Amino acid sequence: MKRRELQELLARQGLAPRHRLGQNFLVEPDLLRALVREAGVAAGDAVLEIGPGAGGLTRPLLEAGARVLAVEVDPGLASLLRELLAAPLAEGRLRLVEGDVLGPDPAFHPRVETWWAEVRRPRVVANLPYGISGPLLARLAGRPLRGASLLLQQELVDRALGRRLRDRGPLAVLLHLAFRARAGRRLPPEVFWPRPRVHSAVLHLEPREDALPAEAWPRVRGWLRVAFAERRKMLLPRLREQAPPLARVLEEAGVEAALRPEELSLDDWEGILRRAILEGL
Ligand code: SAM
Repeated sequence: MKRRELQELLARQGLAPRHRLGQNFLVEPDLLRALVREAGVAAGDAVLEIGPGAGGLTRPLLEAGARVLAVEVDPGLASLLRELLAAPLAEGRLRLVEGDVLGPDPAFHPRVETWWAEVRRPRVVANLPYGISGPLLARLAGRPLRGASLLLQQELVDRALGRRLRDRGPLAVLLHLAFRARAGRRLPPEVFWPRPRVHSAVLHLEPREDALPAEAWPRVRGWLRVAFAERRKMLLPRLREQAPPLARVLEEAGVEAALRPEELSLDDWEGILRRAILEGL
């Protein structure tokens, strides 16, 4: 849907973009189709779409032959979608959940959890609202996935990749352990309505074959919470007090006492956490 068309459609329904819900709609149909192509969506794929809005991305996903579960928190947009996409809903190619996609950490909405168990290894494709992007990405780590392609604010793509020191945190470590992550197409503010202040980019996540076993993830999340709790402080002295067994693993790995948590590379973190799992901490 083009900008003018979407503006008129929402106005007719008495709706307006809600900043709080990160409603920056992508209003370039060619770009939306390109995103679906670049996500590698094929006919028959099960796809989770978060925040379908007025269906801008949902339509090309359905055109590609995907079976889509779309989760929309805004009741006004959900009811508009039920009208606009009545045919695929009736045919069962599209299912719509009205509610918050996030459940209590690290769960998703209960209906998403049930669907996930049925379809086993879905793709996740979305133009994500800024407010939930971090928690949503963190929840994907450790999930059985075919892949994910997510449009995010550039700053979050940087934090997900964790290449620079200032971007490196628990999110980058979690994603590094679960996926091969790469940045895709970059999009300027002009292709959205309303225009955000910043650039956006696509983050592609491909599952690693050597990802951690499912039962290890709760422990890894816990260790990372402790390790990054005070990012400006030296890591080892603090861990010696708060998590002595983990401190011992760091010592054995030769981590210098003066380092802060973000000064360890993603590979360093991977080595340490794998060792902690092997040792049964
Ligand atoms: N997919 C549309 C597009 O590409 O134009 C809209 C994307 S817009 C950036 C984000 C969408 O996510 C909005 O429709 C918003 O209402 C929805 N949303 C925000 N928070 C949500 C949440 N916690 N759970 C589900 N949907 C959410």
